[in-house]
Amino acid sequence: MNRILDPLTAHHPAASPESPRRVTILGATGSVGQSTISLVAGNPNYVVEALTAQSNADKLIEQANLLRPNFVAIGDERLYDKVKSALAPLGIAVGAGPSAMVEAADRPSDWVMGAIVGIAGLAPILAAVRRGVIVAIANKEPLVSAGPLVLAEARRTGATLLPVDSEHNAIFQVFDFDRPESIEKIILTASGGPYRTADRSEMAAATPAEAVRHPNWSMGAKISIDSATLMNKGLELIEAARLFPLAEHQIEVLIHPQSVIHSMVAYVDGSFLAQLGTPDMRTPIAYSLAWPDRLLVDANRLDLAKLGSLTFEQPDHDRFPALNLARAALQRGGLCPCVLNAANEAAVEGFLEGRIGFLDIVETVAQTVAASDNFIGGDSIPSLESIEFADLDARRIAKTIMARMTPPGQRA
Ligand code: NAD
Ligand code: MG
Repeated sequence: MNRILDPLTAHHPAASPESPRRVTILGATGSVGQSTISLVAGNPNYVVEALTAQSNADKLIEQANLLRPNFVAIGDERLYDKVKSALAPLGIAVGAGPSAMVEAADRPSDWVMGAIVGIAGLAPILAAVRRGVIVAIANKEPLVSAGPLVLAEARRTGATLLPVDSEHNAIFQVFDFDRPESIEKIILTASGGPYRTADRSEMAAATPAEAVRHPNWSMGAKISIDSATLMNKGLELIEAARLFPLAEHQIEVLIHPQSVIHSMVAYVDGSFLAQLGTPDMRTPIAYSLAWPDRLLVDANRLDLAKLGSLTFEQPDHDRFPALNLARAALQRGGLCPCVLNAANEAAVEGFLEGRIGFLDIVETVAQTVAASDNFIGGDSIPSLESIEFADLDARRIAKTIMARMTPPGQRA
């Protein structure tokens, strides 16, 4: 059974000005990356080893000027000269392209934040895990596609995986790892996204600009679209099965529009333990950054009296088929979650580029999983090669499926 590597027995010295924790931030310019930097900057308990970004060279240069890391990596190789000439006078080494992401993760640090979006984060996360250090994972797609491989590598090297996704961080905070048999189930909460109360015709007409507007959280474009289709919760269901010693049927999803309860653990005696807070990613990021200590964070405090009431409802599987698709992929196992994830990444990209409609996203995923039917199940741990192959193949199939769909701009 999979579990987070071994939060109870792992020994990591507390960060202090005398022995600061050396950190690397993968995906530093994104929503999670910037929140991580806001906690690290100016705190003498942390020094920065490396930063990475895909294409926002200006932001990356600004961050490097502030934090003075030893190494900076830019994904888009055309931006290498720009970053290099800006940072060379500071004595900061610069790399470019996907291999530089791995190089950043490989450099000596005590703590690595995985905040790249999508499967592009897999190779760097594996590199960090192979060094046996603390790896804080926001980047859920690699856990969905290659969870068993990442966990096996962590077990081999003694790396500690800390979940940053707010639901999984919540569960991590209230999960009794000493007595997993005392846990009946966990409940992942979901806001329901911007289309929680919309009908299918409204959803069919949703534009990218509308769909990225999440009611409670401010996040990158990809996860915002995933939250609107509820595929985000489907990916999180699989992520939870990777991280916690639970069977698939012990993981439930509940719609909770206020996003105050970030998730709950239900124990066999009828107790429910929950973690609550305002929707601010700095709280779970800080928990992973200082773990096992806690960091002072100036996030807004919950005012429960002002809130008055918290509400809950069952997800509507007719309007949001993504959840059951993800659950079925988890049950199938093997490469099925990888195919689901790759098809979803391709479809979200297709939607953001105006090639398909909102409802076509999940339809593309369903058709891709069905078309990949014959090779994807199974219990053994898929290798990196088989994951990379299945990922590329699923993207190819998804593109063919999307090419047959009518782009929103050409609909009557
Ligand atoms: P984002 O789009 O804001 O940032 C993504 C970062 O990754 C940027 O720094 C970008 O430069 C980099 N990047 C993008 N493509 C890359 C590639 N091909 N190679 C290397 N680097 C690349 O995304 P985000 O919202 O910060 O989310 C990051 C991850 O964390 C996602 O997997 C998301 O699901 C997860 N997550 C985010 C939140 C949130 O509040 N934003 C919450 C929970 C989980
Ligand atoms: Mg989440």
